[in-house]
Amino acid sequence: MNLLLTVTKMSEPIISARNLNHYFGDGNLKKQALFDINLDIYAGEIVIMTGPSGSGKTTLLTLMGGLRSAQEGSLKILDRELRDASKQELTKLRGNIGYIFQAHNLLTFLTAKQNVRMSLELHDRYLKGDLDKVANDILTTVGLEERAEYYADNLSGGQKQRVAIARALVSQPKIVLADEPTAALDKKSGRDAVELMQKLAKEQDCTILLVTHDNRILDIADRIVYMEDGRLMDRPETT
Ligand code: ADP
Ligand code: MG
Repeated sequence: MNLLLTVTKMSEPIISARNLNHYFGDGNLKKQALFDINLDIYAGEIVIMTGPSGSGKTTLLTLMGGLRSAQEGSLKILDRELRDASKQELTKLRGNIGYIFQAHNLLTFLTAKQNVRMSLELHDRYLKGDLDKVANDILTTVGLEERAEYYADNLSGGQKQRVAIARALVSQPKIVLADEPTAALDKKSGRDAVELMQKLAKEQDCTILLVTHDNRILDIADRIVYMEDGRLMDRPETT
């Protein structure tokens, strides 16, 4: 009995959605984008989400990341209920999450190292440390030690994406949310990028939720979930 209780407690999900609905617009233009989402993701898991364009994947990811407010149902991230959460609470949550987007969102007027450093500067616990060293170390890990002083504009697509991964993971977030991170990359760079995410995440015991259309990277997932028309469904048999 005690053992069972312990096991149950240890396996609390780090992300938990219950009957989550989401709507865009008001009045006549109100349109439901997410329907009755139920999903649990556990610490250290790598979950891939696939599904057609417009099915609601980005909407769900932005809700989980505290980038928009949850409206209906329940969404718990790191034991915090996000429905009706204040702006302050959402801001606090965002500090525990790393984001990687397709368009990598690097600041082009900063160098690779400065982009990574900026992410550290948002965290009080790093401010007393040697930020340049921490930034250099992670750039070395992603194979960009020679490119640390390059402006983002002067890096290739694959290199930019590696900087984006370094930036998202440098502060050791509990959760990484990645929205089509390989979409702009060729096959090899895409594969390299996700393998890098996988390696860094396993080292840091971080949870990854990754949205992709890229069938070639599905094998890095511990589990695959499928979204269609705003609903999580069983994945259709792939050909
Ligand atoms: P996916 O990421 O799977 O392509 P999205 O989550 O971006 O899908 O979109 C899901 C649905 O919600 C689509 O019908 C889209 O048009 C709609 N939608 C997404 N963002 C907005 C928004 N900011 N305002 C209104 N409708 C939106
Ligand atoms: Mg999307």
